Amino acid sequence: MVSDGTLTPEELAERASANGVQIWALTDHDEVSGQARAATAAKAHGMGYLTGTEISVSFAGQTVHIVGLGFDPENAALRQGLRQTRGGRGQRAMEMSEQLARVGIRGAYEGALKFVGNPELISRTHFARFLVESGVCRETNEVFRKFLTEGKPGYVPHRWASLRDAVTWITGAGGMAVIAHPARYKFSPNEEFALFSEFKAHGGLGVEVVTGSHSAAEYLTYADTAREFGLAASRGSDFHSPNESHTELGTLPPLPQNLVPVWDTLASRIQ
Ligand code: AMP
Ligand code: MN
Repeated sequence: MVSDGTLTPEELAERASANGVQIWALTDHDEVSGQARAATAAKAHGMGYLTGTEISVSFAGQTVHIVGLGFDPENAALRQGLRQTRGGRGQRAMEMSEQLARVGIRGAYEGALKFVGNPELISRTHFARFLVESGVCRETNEVFRKFLTEGKPGYVPHRWASLRDAVTWITGAGGMAVIAHPARYKFSPNEEFALFSEFKAHGGLGVEVVTGSHSAAEYLTYADTAREFGLAASRGSDFHSPNESHTELGTLPPLPQNLVPVWDTLASRIQ
């Protein structure tokens, strides 16, 4: 509710617990204001809790997401960094709306705003919900095939945080930085190698191996990458909403063998 999911932290905790999740992290985009409620709700259900966020980063011409886990959510430099990262979203949303108007879709900014819980965090997901609601597309996956992505109407490139800043904000607040859903990026092998090398050099320690955005084959590919780069392995649903997410909370398969799970490295930070 504080970024682009549709459920409250309490509803998510209940759902995660009902599905057998033992250690949970709420990872809103560029925002930590849901953390206290999520930690309290996790405790009420007897689940372990790790603080979480997912920072938008620009790297080699693409947007990469860096998950932070187990940090102090009150850390001033992290909060200031996230605020700065959120800052460009309003202007970008208006430019997205102008582009959509040029292909005959009017009122997209106002339409997307109706779905926004946190005015600083208007995202493509909110535009996708508007395009489904207004009947332009049948579902959000269709939206991202036809609109809002590179080369399609409504795509506005934006400069997010740098990789170095995102990793430094997270580690400076005592947390672990994790590369989110690496298979989703369209990097060449050289660019991907640069991403992992620079991430490690800045102090990044983990990679998402099992996620709702990866296929079973990709679990194995990134298990190898985790071993090759000496990174801890994470497992996350990327669950946004019961109607839009193909992966339900707590239903992903376990991590492949011979990996160090992020929750082992972060054991002392589990609340
Ligand atoms: P933004 O941070 O505004 O660029 O929006 C990012 C969000 O858009 C992600 O968290 C996803 O929920 C959604 N998204 C981006 N690309 C896709 C895609 N190809 N399919 C489905 N959802 C997507
Ligand atoms: Mn993501």
